[in-house]
Amino acid sequence: MTLRIGIDLGGTKIEAIALGPDGREHIRRRIDTPRGDYARTVAAIADLVADVERQLGQRGSVGVGIPGSISPATGVVKNANSTWLNGQPLHVDLKRVLDRDVRLANDANCFALSEAADGAGAGASVVFGVILGTGTGGGVVIDGRVLVGPNAIAGEWGHNALPWPDASEWPGPPCYCGRHGCIETFLSGSGLQIALAPGPGLRIDHPTVPDRTAREIAAAAARGDAAAGAAVETYTRRLAKSLATVMNLLDPDVIVLGGGLSNIESLYTRVPEIWTEWVFSDRVDTRIARAVHGDSSGVRGAAWLWPA
Ligand SMILES: [Zn+2]
Repeated sequence: MTLRIGIDLGGTKIEAIALGPDGREHIRRRIDTPRGDYARTVAAIADLVADVERQLGQRGSVGVGIPGSISPATGVVKNANSTWLNGQPLHVDLKRVLDRDVRLANDANCFALSEAADGAGAGASVVFGVILGTGTGGGVVIDGRVLVGPNAIAGEWGHNALPWPDASEWPGPPCYCGRHGCIETFLSGSGLQIALAPGPGLRIDHPTVPDRTAREIAAAAARGDAAAGAAVETYTRRLAKSLATVMNLLDPDVIVLGGGLSNIESLYTRVPEIWTEWVFSDRVDTRIARAVHGDSSGVRGAAWLWPA
C-alpha cells in the first residue's frame, strides 16, 4: 500500500490527509464533526475516505486518531471527551464501512508519533507530546514506538490532579471524567479562561461566563494587556508544575506542545524558567518545543500508524 490515509476525528472537525511513501501530502479534507451523533460520525469518516480515494484514484491504508482510546478489554471507545463516542465499537464499525483493516490510536498518541517521526522530537529517544486545546492530551513515544499500555492510558496525564495546588486551585473545576481539579480543566482553553476569571472556587459550572475566548486572552497578553498577561502567567505556572510531574516520572528528552494554546510564544521561555521549582534535579536539560507540523501532527501521525 503506497497511499496512507490519516483521519483525525476531533470534537468539532474531522480532518483527512493522504501521504505518499515519502511522507509528502497529496490531499487534505476537513469537515464539521456531526456532534452528538455516532452513526453520522462513522458515515462521515467513510465518506471522507471515499472522497480522498476517488480524487487520487487509488486505495490506501487508513489510520484514525480518536479522542479517548479503544478499551483493550471490551473493544469499545472509552475516555473520549467527545462523549457520544464512548461505549461504541468504533473500530469494528470503521472496518466494516471501509472494508479493510483500520488502525485506531488516541489522538494525542498520534500527535506524539508524528512529532517523534519527523517533527520537533525527531532523533530524540523519549518524546512526550502534549495537546493543549479543547482538552489536554498526552502521548509518549519511546524510540519511535507509541507507548500504549495494558489499559491504553499511557500519557493520559490530563486526568491527573493539578500538582502542588495552592488554596485557590483546590478542589478545582469539575471535569467531564467525574473528578475535580484535573490538569485538563486548568490547561485546556477553558482553563485559560478561568485563569482570567476564576469565579468562586474555580468552578467553571458557576455562572461566571468569561467574556473572552482563550485565543483573545492570549492575543491580549501578547499586546501587553495586564489582566490577560496575569492570566497567561497563572496558566504558565500551572503548565510548568504539571510538566514537572512528567519529568520526575519519565524524564523525556523533549516535550512537544501542540494545540491552540501551544501558539502562546512566552510558554517556551517562561516554562523552563520556572519548572525548576518542582523538577527533582539540580538542572533541567529537557527541551520544550512547539510542534513542527502544527495542527497537522495528529492527522499525520494517524497516517503513520501504518509504517513502511
Ligand atoms: Zn478529568
